[in-house]
Amino acid sequence: MNKWGFMEKALEDLKKSSLYRTVIPLEGPQSAYVTYEGRKLLMLASNAYLDLCDDPRIKEYTIEVIKRYGTGSGGSRLTTGTTELHVRLEKALARFKGREAALVFNTGFAANTGILPAVCQEGGVIFSDEMNHASIIDGCHLAKAKTVVYRHNDMADLERKTLREWRESGRKGEDFFGLVVSDGVFSMDGDIVNLPELIRVTEKYGLLSMIDEAHSVGVLGKHGRGVEEHFHMEGSVDILMGTLSKAFGSEGGYVCGSDTLISYLRNKARSFIFSTSLSPATIAAALRAVELLEAEPQRTARLQENVRWFCQCLKEQGMDVWSETAVIPIRIGDEGKAAQVSRRLLEQGYYISAIRYPTVKKGQAILRAALMSAHTKEDLRRAAKAIAEAVRME
Ligand SMILES: *Cc1c(COP(=O)(O)O)cnc(C)c1O
Repeated sequence: MNKWGFMEKALEDLKKSSLYRTVIPLEGPQSAYVTYEGRKLLMLASNAYLDLCDDPRIKEYTIEVIKRYGTGSGGSRLTTGTTELHVRLEKALARFKGREAALVFNTGFAANTGILPAVCQEGGVIFSDEMNHASIIDGCHLAKAKTVVYRHNDMADLERKTLREWRESGRKGEDFFGLVVSDGVFSMDGDIVNLPELIRVTEKYGLLSMIDEAHSVGVLGKHGRGVEEHFHMEGSVDILMGTLSKAFGSEGGYVCGSDTLISYLRNKARSFIFSTSLSPATIAAALRAVELLEAEPQRTARLQENVRWFCQCLKEQGMDVWSETAVIPIRIGDEGKAAQVSRRLLEQGYYISAIRYPTVKKGQAILRAALMSAHTKEDLRRAAKAIAEAVRME
């Protein structure tokens, strides 16, 4: 008898289908260039879009905070784990997103798996885009409400399914009927949610709207405030969720909204209540990053300019690529080929991820280029050429 047999077999299967994952340990900070096995690589895979993981002002402030507050937070947020820094960060996030209040979770993953089950109660419905992030999918699984998946960014399909559920629902007065949840910028394809139509549907049927801004804050809008600013629809989304781990260069998740929503989640979201809060240092880094982004919207403008430039360079190399966000998918298809191209580029000094099943559908592997405000045009031109050549050679 071998009680580990099922694991060994699963690992064998992953290896056979080029889906086995390993890690690449970096030796230094996350920035436009990183060090791996003593070599410098151009980083084209990081979510640190605004290059805030290695910012001297943030590091200095964080070191100061460690000296004053120490390391761990010692408890969950509702016991001993709230410092005045946690409260200041929540105020800063609410201000930045133009909302009454905000709540910080330990990760974006914890935010989604906390918010959805707290809000979406039995008898109600969650309408979820088929391309939503894994943490939203898991949040839906944890919720007592029924989940209805609609076709990717297809608002006609959403409305059709809403109408069907509306007719079937025996909704009474103040009971929860439903919530629509979508990534603001989809994490693998980099496309943007059709917010005007999504909000039209949610308003028509009295649904709550929830947008995950993990890849839109710092990236979209004149001031990097995300999807609402991009569409000039400030104030339209009910539940604005996001992460502090990407453009903000720290760690943590957050949600912004009305006082009612935030007080409710503070009392009901289990991933908020039953987990030790983030350390003061992590909170400090996020707080300083929010302040920096408020003061320096040109970081976002530089990132947007890099996106236009990189897409143009890839087109000149004969590649059919388009994106309005920092996530730029380069379609490959075969998992083995995608892994091989990524490996070849790594040897040549470019770090770019091959994204495979289950993150994307089987047979639809992509190279996922992620840009930073810190990339130079020369970096990006060189990278576009190397990518095109590597794709041609495989
Ligand atoms: C990364 C990501 C998350 C999770 O955020 P973490 O802070 O990394 O846990 C949630 N949603 C989306 C769309 C993401 O891309």
